Amino acid sequence: MADHKNAPEVEHLNFIEQMVEEDIRTGKHGGRVHTRFPPEPNGYLHIGHSKSICLNFGLADKYKGKTNLRFDDTNPEKEEQEYVNSIKEDIRWLGFEWENEFYASDYFEQIYQFAVTLIKKGLAYVDDQSAEVIASQKGTPTEAGKASPFRDRSVEENLDLFARMRAGEFAEGSRVLRAKVDMASPNMHLRDPLMYRIKFDHHHRTGDKWKIYPMYDFAHGQSDSIENITHSICTLEFEVHRPLYEWYIKQLGIFPSQQIEFARLNLNYTVMSKRKLLRLVTEKYVSGWDDPRMPTISGFRRRGFTPESIRDFAEKVGIARRENVIDVAVLEFCLREHLNKIAQRRMVVLDPLKVIITNYPDRNSEKLTAENLPGEDHSLYREMSFSKEIYIEREDYMENPSPGYNRFFPGGMVRLKHAFILKCDEAIKNDDGSIKELRCTYFPESRSGQDKSGIKVKGVIHFVNAADAIDVEVRMYDRLFNVEAPDSGEEDFTKYLNPDSLKVISNAKAEPSLSKAKPGEKFQFLRMGYFCADKESTPAKLIFNRTVTLKDTWAKENQVAVGKG
Ligand code: ATP
Ligand code: MG
Repeated sequence: MADHKNAPEVEHLNFIEQMVEEDIRTGKHGGRVHTRFPPEPNGYLHIGHSKSICLNFGLADKYKGKTNLRFDDTNPEKEEQEYVNSIKEDIRWLGFEWENEFYASDYFEQIYQFAVTLIKKGLAYVDDQSAEVIASQKGTPTEAGKASPFRDRSVEENLDLFARMRAGEFAEGSRVLRAKVDMASPNMHLRDPLMYRIKFDHHHRTGDKWKIYPMYDFAHGQSDSIENITHSICTLEFEVHRPLYEWYIKQLGIFPSQQIEFARLNLNYTVMSKRKLLRLVTEKYVSGWDDPRMPTISGFRRRGFTPESIRDFAEKVGIARRENVIDVAVLEFCLREHLNKIAQRRMVVLDPLKVIITNYPDRNSEKLTAENLPGEDHSLYREMSFSKEIYIEREDYMENPSPGYNRFFPGGMVRLKHAFILKCDEAIKNDDGSIKELRCTYFPESRSGQDKSGIKVKGVIHFVNAADAIDVEVRMYDRLFNVEAPDSGEEDFTKYLNPDSLKVISNAKAEPSLSKAKPGEKFQFLRMGYFCADKESTPAKLIFNRTVTLKDTWAKENQVAVGKG
């Protein structure tokens, strides 16, 4: 047989790695790789950002380079310290550490001086027209734009007006600084783009010092250059900005950072833009940015996702140059794969039905051993108790069993996981006809691991011992939207919110070992799914979030909704 271990590994490089390797080979930037992750602190990070994080930090790791965290804080009105803090926490949780923590706002003076340089070179001018008028002069892709009447102002006048814009002498919206590029360029972004606008808003770091703020295009590339970033990776919509990115750097003669674009990550059954996520929060459709239904990193964390599963997901979806939508089932697959390995097994009954084992001695109880994780390691075993009264899931009994139903029904036999085989003798009913409790008999010889009963049963169910079961709250989370693309149509995306995305079960019964569960701790509740202790969980009130079901059942159960899409 061929020895696969010795077969040479053929590594498949994605297109960015190919570019980076080519740059290293040709000695560009001295073979250095320095990336950055540049979030705007105007919201919490979402799963799309994790793609960019894994890409930027991953490249630096792979090529022994560095990654800066740079807050792109050039929009004073929307940015806040809370967002800065959450972004740092989320990146660290994903498992990455930045080389430097920088802020575009730290470069405001430098960027201002860059603008002065362009004015002096006759490459920028102050325009006294309103934004609307400027927009109306832009032309169309096939028709040249109209030059502003202020385009040929003298350098002296431009320098004077720009200094006075900075000093706060002019009203918001009354003037802008524009680059003088080409009003006839087929690339609309080169038709004398705005560089600075007047804004009197308070900035989260620079306070009221600045009355003018640079536009994205005249801040991002300049910040990259100031930090000597070699590869500036961004999403595809910036491809058309690249000529402008390169124009500014060339005219200023500063470090030639290189912009590279890739397709943003899109996921079905959710929305991703921060503006929409903010609406979900402020309009209280969810409990906050870290609501376990949110596609934010903090939401996934609270829901019980692991950083490993998100990194694995980012790796699996790869990077592309064309927009596409990834099925959330892929993310859930990565999650199940990891949780299956690490989640401690426990028994919890979500919808309890009492069972009385009539032939079990009244005052007896005994200890059972149950494995915490599948495998042979005996140090991973825990104790569970067993006695005359237990709880099982209500759905594990059917009065009139459908064909193939192999759990309890009158006369039916079932094995209790880690315990005994029971035979269902009788169901006791309430006055309204609902089932109050089951009366069963057990087979003392059938104890798991030492079964001498000779009885064969098909069904195995979970249970908890009534005497020491603890009450827990379980929050059953499901997808936040019930259509694949909630924000693709005419309707407001909130119309497609899934009304059943959260169901709270307040009276679930759990085995007592769960009383020690710490917030964030992850479990598999046998047969019920993967769960984690919520951040609000305390020993006095235990709360568990359903992270994900054991299998992907969504598509089957929701065929109709999916079809309507
Ligand atoms: P949004 O539109 O969701 O508000 P954004 O692009 O405005 O996102 P930024 O804070 O500016 O958010 O993004 C920081 C970095 O993350 C940028 O480099 C951006 O390209 C990248 N990024 C944002 N969304 C995605 C996504 N869905 N997939 C991949 N990368 C993304
Ligand atoms: Mg942005």
